[in-house]
Amino acid sequence: AETDALRSEYADDLDDEAAGLVLPVLAVVGRPNVGKSTLVNRILGRREAVVEDVPGVTRDRVAYDAQWNGRDFTLVDTGGWERDVTGLDARVAEQAELAVEAADAVLFVVDATIGTTDTDEAVVRVLRRSGKPVVLAANKVDNARTEAEAASLWSLGLGEPLPVSALHGRGTGDLLDAVLGVLPQPRPAESAPSGPRRIALVGRPNVGKSSLLNALAGEERVVVDATAGTTRDPVDEIVELGGRDWRFVDTAGIRRRVHLTSGADYYASLRTRAAIEKAEVAVLLLDASEPLAEQDIRIATMVEEAGRALVLAFNKWDLLDEDRHELLEREVERDLGPVRWAPRVNISANTKRHLERLVPALDTALQGWETRVPTGRLNSFLGQLVAATPPPVRGGKQPKILFATQAASRPPRFVIFTTGFLEAGYRRFIERRLREEFGFAGTPISLSVRVRE
Ligand code: GDP
Ligand code: GDP
Repeated sequence: AETDALRSEYADDLDDEAAGLVLPVLAVVGRPNVGKSTLVNRILGRREAVVEDVPGVTRDRVAYDAQWNGRDFTLVDTGGWERDVTGLDARVAEQAELAVEAADAVLFVVDATIGTTDTDEAVVRVLRRSGKPVVLAANKVDNARTEAEAASLWSLGLGEPLPVSALHGRGTGDLLDAVLGVLPQPRPAESAPSGPRRIALVGRPNVGKSSLLNALAGEERVVVDATAGTTRDPVDEIVELGGRDWRFVDTAGIRRRVHLTSGADYYASLRTRAAIEKAEVAVLLLDASEPLAEQDIRIATMVEEAGRALVLAFNKWDLLDEDRHELLEREVERDLGPVRWAPRVNISANTKRHLERLVPALDTALQGWETRVPTGRLNSFLGQLVAATPPPVRGGKQPKILFATQAASRPPRFVIFTTGFLEAGYRRFIERRLREEFGFAGTPISLSVRVRE
């Protein structure tokens, strides 16, 4: 039920996010108890505050989707990062460093009724070094009488301290206006390519690449980029499939039977690699009637390492009998495990069996490849995952996962900020759960971890 509640919270995505834009990130930084969470809740317009009158109260979520004056941004509350207040100065500064790395701008909160402390000064040094824009909030200025207290914060050298009362909402409008003044605009996700999608049709010799290309294109294929010269020139062909144009890259090697001279394997492998690099999605053609070969697995790995989408096409299905079919499934299970996320089609270039399934598989793979998970959604998902299955303790310490962001798509790349090393097993676990939650069929995904001890 809890998952359902969180899902529905994101059911109506923010406009910008829905339009495929990447939202700028604002990190709220400051010492414990200065009012960061109160301010975050104020900005989000939430009454059901997470705040309790206990310093360092446990908070599960750190990133939220926020909006002010029609502009969307992601708000990161670093308050929840600190659950233990020993060695405070260093910790707060470290936290600020981490937040700054993940953010486009920083909202630095100081308690005006207390004034600046050494910890605040340490944070200021970190903020200065980062060069990121900073807005300074002088919090707990609950009425005009205490406004003078805010003025003392000029000494931090961060410009004008903006007096606010997170508790009563006083001054928060002006504060948010200042924030929008320094926050960059949402930026488009990696630009969607124009023109036909680029496919590399790859596979070892004799699996049926040339037959498949002929079956798909018939006589209607259009050869493009045919440069005069040697037989090794790459040639792209535009082929219409499912009512759309697709660009098959480097088809020259498929069309021409290259003689098996010494070194041919090496060149074939270079050519395969080059085709994969140029493509967005690879169709790895396999001969279902024969045992999987070392080379099949090598090409699958090549696609994964190049970070391209992948479709597995098992050709010559017309030759399969029951026994071979059973064997094949076992080989796939054993040898193609690392790319088990790839959609699969069982086809025959000769009989044209199931060729119409190729386009939906390509679409699935490309869609997974281009997926972008909104920061708020990613972090609520991770919060739940970590709460249910915390990372294993290492060297007596429990690493904490602070915040995650999808740094890129095509293919999806995630960066997780933590307080300690995450074991490979746990990283794989996160990847598996990410795939279950968000799909990513047909695409490799990468997960890197930034550790602050
Ligand atoms: P955090 O640790 O920085 O996230 O601080 P909290 O948001 O948990 O707030 C710490 C305490 O300060 C809580 O008791 C809040 O009610 C109180 N507080 C926060 N903002 C204000 C404010 O603007 N005025 C006053 N008087 N108290 C505040
Ligand atoms: P390439 O080297 O990967 O381009 O493979 P080719 O297209 O030249 O095919 C190699 C051999 O496999 C040829 O004899 C084809 O007729 C045969 N072949 C290709 N596709 C099929 C298929 O779906 N079924 C059967 N039975 N034979 C096929």
